[in-house]
Amino acid sequence: NIELFREENIPLQAEMAVAQQQFGQITGAMMVTVNGEEYTLQQATKFLENADRNLREEVYHKIQGRRLQDTGKLNELYDKLIDLRNREAQNAGFENYRDYRFKELGRFDYTKEDCYQFHEAVKLHVLPLVNEIYRKKKEKLGLPDLRPWDMEAEPEGTKPLRPFTTGDDLLQKSIDCFEKLRPFFGQCLQKMQALNHLDLESRKGKAPGGYNCPLAESGAPFIFMNAAGQMSDVTTMLHEGGHAVHSFLAHPLALTGFKEYPMEIAEVASMAMELFTMDHWESFFDNAADLQRAKEHQLERVITIFPWIAVIDKFQHWIYEHPVHTHEERTAAWVATLLEFQDDVINYSGLENYRSNAWQRQLHLFEVPFYYIEYGIAQLGAIGMWMQYKKNAEQALDNYCEALSLGATKTLPELYKTAGLEFDFSPEKIKVLMEFVKGEMEKL
Ligand SMILES: [Zn+2]
Repeated sequence: NIELFREENIPLQAEMAVAQQQFGQITGAMMVTVNGEEYTLQQATKFLENADRNLREEVYHKIQGRRLQDTGKLNELYDKLIDLRNREAQNAGFENYRDYRFKELGRFDYTKEDCYQFHEAVKLHVLPLVNEIYRKKKEKLGLPDLRPWDMEAEPEGTKPLRPFTTGDDLLQKSIDCFEKLRPFFGQCLQKMQALNHLDLESRKGKAPGGYNCPLAESGAPFIFMNAAGQMSDVTTMLHEGGHAVHSFLAHPLALTGFKEYPMEIAEVASMAMELFTMDHWESFFDNAADLQRAKEHQLERVITIFPWIAVIDKFQHWIYEHPVHTHEERTAAWVATLLEFQDDVINYSGLENYRSNAWQRQLHLFEVPFYYIEYGIAQLGAIGMWMQYKKNAEQALDNYCEALSLGATKTLPELYKTAGLEFDFSPEKIKVLMEFVKGEMEKL
């Protein structure tokens, strides 16, 4: 980016690249011991789904307690990154890093004011729905109060969902589900299968995570994941399948550069696929109760992430508007933001120390600043697609395919328009979407 390039920023950027890696080193080394065995924090989160509430509480405190041991290190690392980023922005003639970073991210279609609108909209129209979801959860669990370690739990005696067995079973069921939605979607997965472009099953020593990787030459993407029979594996597969369909659709475009579509549309492709396919999840379940539970869980997941996205985004605006601040001021700003978006169902008492450092677990703050609200914008787009789908399924899928086949040859507002959406995250717009989701939840 010529406009942002400054000779004197080269050493700062080199220093930043090194510093950013320290986040992974610090957090990756965090371990806890549960029942005599060592786990990474990521691995230990599976105990938060356990039916034994005492075990959940114990593991929650272990995870949070372990994080607290490194608050000093992570605070220092963040100080360093903020300072480097601020200097980089000022060298390039910007008033602050936020304004510089928006340019660097290629955010030409929305401004900081649009982000503020998004924050307000989440507070006004998403939080009430989040409260309702948590109230129902508390009721279902039959608990006198809902604590943070109860959020992933199921009522006692409920068996975890087992939507598939092997990686091959997952694939066959996904193909079946995609085919029912639209034969072309099923064909995309079949083509990937024929090319051996699917590595789905978890095995010892395999790298963690799940992703879709578009291959520029053949136009056939690759899906890599660690399936282990859980519902979250199904949503990962459907999500990555949406990205894959996007790659197939955009492939005929002449220039490879055109295929590098921004997150704000790429994640609409994947998140909308998760929602569209819900009408055909019988492919994974043979009884109505499990099917309903899976759908409820999906909608909970879609809605309850919004407040956290708003908190993380709003906090960063404060950080880079106040690049010189003490740790106390930073904590105060974080807590104030957190409280603004706090639900009124979960009981957080006695957990203030964990809460006031909770920002430190968000990788994006350290590694990819300001790159997070995209998920929220795209999720709104996906909900908008689903709303269209519920009114006229074929038309919605036509719009979806048409927009995705444009790759990145158009601006975001144009891509959204082709998809039958408005690129608008104002409170009025979000209100309509949340009312729609609420209605769908009541119909389940
Ligand atoms: Zn994705």
